[in-house]
Amino acid sequence: MSIDFSGATPLMKQYFSIKQEYPDGLLFFQVGDFYELFFDDAKQASVFLGIALTKRGQHNGEPIPLCGVPVHALDHYLTKLIRGGFRVILCDQLEEATPGKVVTRGVTKVLTPGTLTDSKLLQDKSASYLFSFFPQEDRWGLLFGEILTAQLFATVLPAQSEKVLESELMRFIPDEIILPQSSLGMRFATLFKKYGYPTSMSTGIEHTDISAWMSAQFASDKVAYIMQQKSLHAALHHFYAYLYKNQKEALDQFKQLHIYEPEDFLLLDAPTQRNLEIVKNNQDGSGKHTLFSVLDRATTPMGSRMIKKWLLRPLVKHSAIEQRLDAVGCLIKHMHITERIAQECTGLGDLERIVGRIALTRAHLHDYIAIRLALNIIPTIKQLLFSLSESVLLQQAARSITDFATLEQLLGAAFNDNVHHEWIIKEGFDQQLDTLRSLVMQVDEYIIALEKKEQERTGISSLKIRYNNVHGYYIEITKANLDAVPADYIRQQTLVGRERFMTQELQELQLRVIRARNEIAEVEKKVFERVKEEIVQYVGNLRKMTQILAHIDALIGFAKTAYDHAYVRPAIMSNRDIIIHEGRHPVVEQSMSNRFIPNNTLLTDTESVWIVTGPNMGGKSTYLRQVALITIMAHCGSFVPATSASIPLLDRVFTRIGSGDNLVDGKSTFLVEMEETASICTTATNRSLVILDEVGRGTSTFDGLALAQAVVEYIYNYVQARCLFATHYHELTLLQDTYPGIASYYAASKKTDDGIIFLYSIINGIADGSFGIEVAKLAQVPLPVIQRAQDILTTLTMIEQSKASAISKAVNQQPIDDGMEILKKENSILKEQLMHMHDALKKSKVVLSQLQAIEYDDLSPKKAFDLLWKLKEL
Ligand code: ATP
Repeated sequence: MSIDFSGATPLMKQYFSIKQEYPDGLLFFQVGDFYELFFDDAKQASVFLGIALTKRGQHNGEPIPLCGVPVHALDHYLTKLIRGGFRVILCDQLEEATPGKVVTRGVTKVLTPGTLTDSKLLQDKSASYLFSFFPQEDRWGLLFGEILTAQLFATVLPAQSEKVLESELMRFIPDEIILPQSSLGMRFATLFKKYGYPTSMSTGIEHTDISAWMSAQFASDKVAYIMQQKSLHAALHHFYAYLYKNQKEALDQFKQLHIYEPEDFLLLDAPTQRNLEIVKNNQDGSGKHTLFSVLDRATTPMGSRMIKKWLLRPLVKHSAIEQRLDAVGCLIKHMHITERIAQECTGLGDLERIVGRIALTRAHLHDYIAIRLALNIIPTIKQLLFSLSESVLLQQAARSITDFATLEQLLGAAFNDNVHHEWIIKEGFDQQLDTLRSLVMQVDEYIIALEKKEQERTGISSLKIRYNNVHGYYIEITKANLDAVPADYIRQQTLVGRERFMTQELQELQLRVIRARNEIAEVEKKVFERVKEEIVQYVGNLRKMTQILAHIDALIGFAKTAYDHAYVRPAIMSNRDIIIHEGRHPVVEQSMSNRFIPNNTLLTDTESVWIVTGPNMGGKSTYLRQVALITIMAHCGSFVPATSASIPLLDRVFTRIGSGDNLVDGKSTFLVEMEETASICTTATNRSLVILDEVGRGTSTFDGLALAQAVVEYIYNYVQARCLFATHYHELTLLQDTYPGIASYYAASKKTDDGIIFLYSIINGIADGSFGIEVAKLAQVPLPVIQRAQDILTTLTMIEQSKASAISKAVNQQPIDDGMEILKKENSILKEQLMHMHDALKKSKVVLSQLQAIEYDDLSPKKAFDLLWKLKEL
């Protein structure tokens, strides 16, 4: 960016030269007690923050737009801006202001959504990933980095894997995406912005070789892999370049690089994650009423984040799942010990992020104190874990917690526990500091002696030498004693009832104190830095320990939920049968005041596809989702809401809801439904669970029915996945006559004189209607509408019944190639019936007009009889 700043004031010249270096982002320019923003930055920030936009001075003959925020309120505004996806560049005054000179200013921090480290700006329960995406013609490189845990996750996808890319985004939910400034990069930036992710374009660092950095950070096999994968290498390069510019210290922290394939975890594509509301709900996008909210019973934020990671990346490795289940089982069995560990964990705080800040030497004193307190607790946790001998995982965890006695000793000796203490460094830790401090203390003694001396000299016993931050030391004398004030006292301030003075001796003492205090501050800072450096050596081990603790806390969260809500341990099977007895929906059951009705599921080779019918509001969707959620929970190593459950190792879970909206992409709802259906047909396998809820609903009845049936047949015959299909197309239940493995189930209900009662039991058989009108009644749709709907329904049902059985017979007996013929026949039947209806309607209109034309005053019995007769004829 090139700015013409000739003619600008010295302050604005300084502003322009800094802005030129940091053109992307809002430049917060400190001017005294305010951060000021100018030009476009001011316009954007004032709108977004809802603060006043004003003008100050002129540039090129135009007024300069300006807005500002007070320095003390910075955090509040930063949080808002960063969460809104802005980048903020903090430019601070680097020296005390002196009249007649422009204060030196410099950029002290660049804050971007994906590179935050400050706990006030981060969300406790979500990991913060910076995602570098590099698309090439044939391959796409994906790299997710979490700065505070210093972990990298990398994978390579074949180009055109948009669906997998979207589901990876939903697994990591990055706070910021870096893209190359190429045309392909720009195209993806538009897409990611539409999804709601903040993006940053990177030009990379020209001629920068990251080989040395890579070799220093990662194992040689990983480096070799990256060198082979050009797109991943480029993604890593841009990641490096971006951090080099904005957060250089973070680079050396990244030592763990996990190269993974999306299939290493249970695949839940983006629509499935949305439909099942795993970590975000569809109402307000928050975590309320999600699977996460039910399972998140961890004590610490790091435990909660671990649970979220587990839910977004369920395991597919049998032994790993069993290990988690063993641990959860053991924690449940010994709930009294679990409670004690949880109690101890409350003292740990967000250790993971604290260690992250310590690694970056960006921690505050309270972070070091927190570490010391945590280290105090850890031996107790370790001891308690050792007593849970039945779980391999918990034993491994206990053994891996190493001894931090030396670090604890160092922290204990170096820092004062009280953050409000005047001194950061404890007495006795550094000799130079102690000597300087004793000088200051001596000054205090001098002051006491001087006060005594002055009291005696003046004869004023109430004379006091006091201190405040603005004026330093002064002598205070009450009004009543002013007559006794000696001539050498210099008056400084008059207050109500008393006056303040200075003497030459006190002035000299004051200067000595100021000098000593400044020196102490300087030395203390140096000692603090030295200790920080020393502590950094422990970061590797501290990180390992915090990861273990986060795991334990997450397992405790699982155990507590399971214990309180009577979950059971699922048996993870190597066959393909999903057998759940008395399963419940984990989220719905907790949000209900009534009893939740449990249901069984037996998706086996004998009945691999279930067509589920039943009234609106009958509990179909809840049931379908509960089966999906239970299988996912089992893959996460969690117990499940059921009385027993056998869950096979699955590769994918699909959940599709008919007519989902995708306003973001501007696609019609039906097109989205079909795209999602296509992706199931092409990617599901016989190890997948497919949940279809009213798929085919978004188009005309026949199109929808035809597609729904074809999809079910395809899944049954070719994909051979386990499948639950909820539908209002009752015609589909006839499929059970043709295919032995397709079964019909329905959500039971009872029709009474007072209306419909939902029983919420899923039982074998076919519902005798959708009872949509009953539900409309419950919703208090006006009676005339209900009555009219009832009439229409009766007519339509008659027509449909005769037709449907004919069609179904035809469709099920005909090979698929004859489908068009059948549809044509079907069309002509329909036309004929429509003509009949049309005639009937015409006649009803005649009847209606005759009825309306009756003049009641003029209606003799004879006339009435004639009219009735005529109407009957019609
Ligand atoms: P529609 O066909 O209109 O989509 P549906 O059959 O899918 O309806 P759901 O949305 O699953 O019905 O359920 C409606 C409501 O019924 C739920 O919000 C819940 O309050 C209640 N419900 C569902 N299942 C159960 C259950 N097993 N026990 C108790 N209440 C339930």
